[in-house]
Amino acid sequence: MLYSIAEVIAATSGRAENIAAQSVGSISIDSRDISPGALFVAIKGDNFDGHDFVAKAVEAGAVAALVSEAQAATLSGLPLIVVSDALEGLNRLARFARQRSNAQIVAVTGSVGKTSTKEAIRTVLSSAGRTHASIRSFNNHWGVPLMLARMPADTEFGVFELGMSAAGEIEPLSKLVRPHCAVITTIAPAHIEFFDSIDGIADAKAEIFAGLQPGGLAIVNCDHDQIERLIVHAQTAGIKVRTYGFAERADARITGFVSNATGAHANLASEGLDVNINLSVTGRHVIANGAAAILVAQGFGIAPEAAAYALAKQEAPEGRGATYRLGTGEQSLILLDESYNANPVSMRAALEVFAAISTDAKRRVLVLGEMRELGAASQQFHAELAQDVIDVAPDLVFLVGENMKALAERLPPHLQIERFASTDAGADRIVDALAFGDSVMLKGSNGVRLGTLVARIRTHF
Ligand code: ATP
Ligand code: MG
Repeated sequence: MLYSIAEVIAATSGRAENIAAQSVGSISIDSRDISPGALFVAIKGDNFDGHDFVAKAVEAGAVAALVSEAQAATLSGLPLIVVSDALEGLNRLARFARQRSNAQIVAVTGSVGKTSTKEAIRTVLSSAGRTHASIRSFNNHWGVPLMLARMPADTEFGVFELGMSAAGEIEPLSKLVRPHCAVITTIAPAHIEFFDSIDGIADAKAEIFAGLQPGGLAIVNCDHDQIERLIVHAQTAGIKVRTYGFAERADARITGFVSNATGAHANLASEGLDVNINLSVTGRHVIANGAAAILVAQGFGIAPEAAAYALAKQEAPEGRGATYRLGTGEQSLILLDESYNANPVSMRAALEVFAAISTDAKRRVLVLGEMRELGAASQQFHAELAQDVIDVAPDLVFLVGENMKALAERLPPHLQIERFASTDAGADRIVDALAFGDSVMLKGSNGVRLGTLVARIRTHF
């Protein structure tokens, strides 16, 4: 049982109609994804209004629906908890979940690497106690309250991803989650359409400190040029900061980094801390994310060695650095799947990883999709990747999307480049061009749908 119906009514100040059940076992906002005994929350999104799906949700086993007063009349006869606004009701339930909880809570934000870091933290904390973590990138104004409201009463560690696309969005999320530990993964140009400057992005991420509990700890990556600004924010708020990263100034410093086909390896050291990080995935950024997880664990009283051990067993999430060997021996091809996401920082990180893991390949093949949501400087960001691509010394380069034109124009003529308008338009040609012995990396913004091509390659080889 997640909540008794009485708790839901009290927490939301709702009015019950036609409810027979005594409790709810889960919460969902999607009528296609209802477990029997669930509470369905009717959220209004850009494209759909959950109120249109209440009857379907009840048919699928929901025992009650949390709905807005304005739509309640059209739903008469169904089991309802009526509140002034369903999203506000969900927020109230989330506040109740947080308030009843004794869990140690960590919130993660940053321009890049939130989900990867959240997953690393989840892995580490799960090895030490009952852990509840946000799924996927449920990190916005409805995702965060939904994830928090789903937190079971007996949770020992809670892990939440906080995202934003504009200033002022992180603060309310952080005040809802009220973390004991706040992590900022990095500051970089990602989702910058609504910002004039990178300073503005740093300020917006620093809003996470607003909800940090008294005596709480900020764990902040320092391998970017906004670090001073973040530290000032923390100090102004009287918050203790621990920095981590490759830079010399890091409190917890990563050294001895090695990345190869067996994974990534490094040492993390600071006062009272000296552990080796060994990961089955590769890349500097995954080591940095692992370092964050170890510091969170240490902040929560878990031995860093135990945390590092848990990390060593973690596998890369689909689309974010998962590596596959398709086929066997000579008749095989290595595929690095980065199809989930791309921006300038993660693109560079991935190219570097790819270079390291493809040293034995007969040919190196890049399939790069455009990076979206980069705003006015998008062309420049694409063009600036040229040197990073050249450094990989690729044998074939496939580019997908209009924005990739800017990169194509900057690449030297000796590279074999083909550009396609869409993944669908290029898929046949790309699959055709691949051969055993190749190492291939696919990376682009999720909207480019390179994931569909990854699936095709995986069935083809
Ligand atoms: P979103 O805003 O879409 O939720 P996110 O911040 O959760 O993104 P991830 O999904 O974790 O980011 O990672 C996005 C991409 O960036 C992946 O391709 C991943 O390999 C790469 N990446 C992960 N961590 C870092 C990091 N610390 N620095 C740079 N790149 C990273
Ligand atoms: Mg994410």
